[in-house]
Amino acid sequence: MMALGIDLGGTSIKTAVVDITGAPVGEGKEKTPAEDGVEACVEAMLAAAGEAINMAGLRREQLTGAGIGVPGVVLPAKGLVVEATNLTGWVNVPLRDIMSRRLGLRVELANDANAAALGEARFGAGRNVKNLVLFTLGTGIGGGIIINGDILVGANGMGGEIGHTLIEMSRPRPCGCERFGCVEAYAGALGIVKRAHEALAEDWRKHSALHEVAEREKLEAHHVFDLAWDGDFLAKEIIAKTAHALAAGITNILHTLDPELVLLAGGITKAGPRFLEQVRSMVGEMALRQVRDTRVEYALLGDKAGVTGAAAMVLAA
Ligand SMILES: [Zn+2]
Repeated sequence: MMALGIDLGGTSIKTAVVDITGAPVGEGKEKTPAEDGVEACVEAMLAAAGEAINMAGLRREQLTGAGIGVPGVVLPAKGLVVEATNLTGWVNVPLRDIMSRRLGLRVELANDANAAALGEARFGAGRNVKNLVLFTLGTGIGGGIIINGDILVGANGMGGEIGHTLIEMSRPRPCGCERFGCVEAYAGALGIVKRAHEALAEDWRKHSALHEVAEREKLEAHHVFDLAWDGDFLAKEIIAKTAHALAAGITNILHTLDPELVLLAGGITKAGPRFLEQVRSMVGEMALRQVRDTRVEYALLGDKAGVTGAAAMVLAA
């Protein structure tokens, strides 16, 4: 049994034909024509799908179906992409029917971070786990919640938007969602860099090695992590605050859902075991006794989680 996964990203479209274990037997990739409208994106998805199916040496009718992860708000039951802000013209697009007609296959949709959570649950760090929460840490923070093996979609397609749970009420930092005080504003890569720049504006901190990096090049989150592990006082302080903010977000979700497992995915997984250890120990301090020992781990599938999770939607468990 094989299924097609399509991961529609803001810059590229990745496709894979995967078997029942989630192993890819064919893959494809196309650039996303993000500014050219829905029809151009559909054609590019079909091209990338064709590449994966050809590489797998299969005919379309041998597939059980196709799953599509979309970077936006999705209502899977209606087959609708409500909005995808990084793709021009994507408002209320009946993508399931469009793609089902063009592919001649059963098609299912999901938000991309939700698809990634399903991928990890079925084939990655969450195998054998029925209830898990995935935080996707990049420039911003996305997320997905798997309950009894299925994606929690929510009434408005907004289930799992855990990056925008609030952790700061007094003097909150502005978030990418144009609101204030969200986890993302503190633990997203953009938040980390902003915090570093603010700290460096004060003279007494300029003997931090972060100051030299910021003078030389564009400061990025990985610089802060690297220098923290080298022992730089300011970088250590910023990373501790980042871990604290993330731990607050995790604690909120532990107290809301009591999942078996929390996974951290995205660029931050490169920060290594020490960051994970900091987050775990802060969760241990903040969370109620009964959920304090919930496993917090890094995800395993990297950028393959989205495309395999998309395929998982049309692969029977
Ligand atoms: Zn927000």
